[in-house]
Amino acid sequence: MRKCKLRTGSAPVIEITREAFESATEKKPPYYSGDPKSDGRQFAVCPACENPIKIIGMYKKLTLTDKPYGKHFPHTVKGLASYSQQEYEYCILRGSAKISKSSRRPESSGMPREILKLLRSQFDLVADILSKETDIRFSRSLLRHMLRTYLGEQGHRYFGATLYNLPWVFGYMSNSQKLYGQYIRKDSPLAHMIQLRCPEIILTGSDSGDYAQVSKSGVSFVDLNFCFIHHRQKATGYDLSESITFHVSRGLGTPPETVYEKTIEIDPAFFPNLIHTPREIAGRKEALLALAGEEITGI
Ligand SMILES: [Zn+2]
Repeated sequence: MRKCKLRTGSAPVIEITREAFESATEKKPPYYSGDPKSDGRQFAVCPACENPIKIIGMYKKLTLTDKPYGKHFPHTVKGLASYSQQEYEYCILRGSAKISKSSRRPESSGMPREILKLLRSQFDLVADILSKETDIRFSRSLLRHMLRTYLGEQGHRYFGATLYNLPWVFGYMSNSQKLYGQYIRKDSPLAHMIQLRCPEIILTGSDSGDYAQVSKSGVSFVDLNFCFIHHRQKATGYDLSESITFHVSRGLGTPPETVYEKTIEIDPAFFPNLIHTPREIAGRKEALLALAGEEITGI
């Protein structure tokens, strides 16, 4: 892997380069062991499974690549991260984990609980990211409905879920939702395709100028829904490519007619780094955090 974290939990994700790693760690333990037995290795945390990783090629020339990279380290590194064989087996950065939408981690695993805690504390950012990706300004009642669906699906136990992909997997595990009544960005490709393919729908009113509400035109009725499908995680070489597809459809046929589709690439550093952006810059929405607090309880 080419990216790492310097502690477990919602820590920022950094590139594994000598410059970034030295500045961030100041060459201190537990990142630099200073132990001759450990062969001068450096340690960090896997951004996907939270296990320890060792850094390869930081100070030694490699034959296959000119850049240092991280490799899972199957032991606990004191002061940094505990090793979990179970999380390692599910790790998407391992390259051979098999993931299907119905796969769930056991309740006992620590990761689902960490994911739920993060969702509760960052629900406004999760909603914000999905809103920017989709051009939908989700209403509070829709977000509550999505959250209840996600919890009902046990989305936090989905094998493909990590801390860093939480916003997109939240969308993935909230299944199909109705688009009627939501505000969408007027100049977006989504609005354009709805106007082109759905004569039953008009975009009306606007409380902010840039957004219009998805409403019935009165000609006839059509079901209009959105969902996130095709969550794909692929370890390529030393890195991971991950994507999800935002899909809007009309009608109740099987399969329903596609109105709009957009593939979203997931950057593992984006969400963790946004969490660590100062509040006044990132903008926080207390009402959404309260909503998440009402729905996610008992953790
Ligand atoms: Zn891992």
